[in-house]
Amino acid sequence: MFLRKSPYSLPPEQYGGGRKRIFIGLMLASCALLCLGLCFFLILPWSDLRGGLRWLPPLSMAMGGLGIAVLAWLCLSLVFHIYTGILLPGMGGVRHVIIRLFFPLMELLAKAVGIDRDKVRRSFIKVNNELVLAARRPVAPRDVLLLLPHCVQNSGCPRRLRHGADSCARCGKCQVGELLNLRDRYGIQFAIATGGTIAHRIVIQTRPRCILAVACERDLTSGIQDSYPLPVFGVLNQRPCGPCLDTIAPLPALEEGIRLFLGLAEPAAKAERGGRA
Ligand code: SF4
Repeated sequence: MFLRKSPYSLPPEQYGGGRKRIFIGLMLASCALLCLGLCFFLILPWSDLRGGLRWLPPLSMAMGGLGIAVLAWLCLSLVFHIYTGILLPGMGGVRHVIIRLFFPLMELLAKAVGIDRDKVRRSFIKVNNELVLAARRPVAPRDVLLLLPHCVQNSGCPRRLRHGADSCARCGKCQVGELLNLRDRYGIQFAIATGGTIAHRIVIQTRPRCILAVACERDLTSGIQDSYPLPVFGVLNQRPCGPCLDTIAPLPALEEGIRLFLGLAEPAAKAERGGRA
């Protein structure tokens, strides 16, 4: 049977070249390691550790076999969903399993085999965004929060935006003015955060139903994990002056994200397919 590619697939260029295959490879490797650990229960009945207990071998083998079967099914269903965008029955909590179970394991594994952490994070952000897009329902503008890091503001600007971005004079020396225009055009919520704790407080205060967050790989990854179960669509910033200084938010990708969550557009791949149909 021919399986189509996920209609929610996003271009790798938006993710610094990040590809799903890194995420999938690490997830399969983590799953294999967990299964290897569960093999302990399968060999236990033949070891001296059973201590003559007659009920232990069948129980141990059932636990080991069941654990391996569940993990293998979970992992293969996740890979299937990531590639095709099709959610198999019983896989509603797919993001939960990835964020809570697999990703921490994958980060450890990547560190052990020497894979660049940012590469893994970019791949994770891309997969997360595609899952968020696949599960999204159109929301009202007031339920969308556009969250930006303070380093998007020009480092020489004397305006203090911490208590409200409207202090910006929209002078054009940085993107804050254009971002405020975007906010005004779509009527969404907007905030600039100076760190993870402030970002968390903003989310609690504004109570959005979905977040479009701009940040670096590290902050986006932790933001996605901390905000779960809220859907966070992560947009990587550009850092021509180095980390945390005069960073750039990719406006076209942001606007496209806003339109998708407001139900004003379809993902490019899906729209293309719809047009061809
Ligand atoms: S656009 Fe706003 S934040 Fe940026 S430099 Fe001008 S006044 Fe400051």
